[in-house]
Amino acid sequence: MASDFEAQLRAVALRVTRPRLAVLAALRDHPHVDTDTVIRLVRTDLPLVSHQAVYDVLRALTDAGLVRRIQPAGATARYEARVADNHHHIVCRSCGAIADVDCAVGEAPCLTASDDHGFVVDEAEVVYWGTCPDCATNRTSQ
Ligand SMILES: [Zn+2]
Ligand SMILES: [Zn+2]
Ligand SMILES: [Zn+2]
Repeated sequence: MASDFEAQLRAVALRVTRPRLAVLAALRDHPHVDTDTVIRLVRTDLPLVSHQAVYDVLRALTDAGLVRRIQPAGATARYEARVADNHHHIVCRSCGAIADVDCAVGEAPCLTASDDHGFVVDEAEVVYWGTCPDCATNRTSQ
């Protein structure tokens, strides 16, 4: 598995480092986690890694397109390793749980603007909001 990540890093001309490999592995296993969670996960492998090092890795990987940063309104930024497929997210208003939703169209922009005002539109940011199954169950049982 590590060699996959090494190939990904080399493909975008990033040096292979243990913190970068650890962040990619953490995001593969735990999609949509915030920075603090990434730090905690990475430290299970690399106990001495600093906050700043993880911030720097997340920024470098995001800039290189290996990691996608999402930030639903009112939430902290989350990171995931699933990139370049224009998938959307569904967010629970109650607990903040996030799930992936495949784009029904597939390619951005998947919504047609009724009036593009002459802009070249390349993306429509789609976030579905609702109540997750756990929160819906808790609500009805209370
Ligand atoms: Zn919920
Ligand atoms: Zn996602
Ligand atoms: Zn879509």
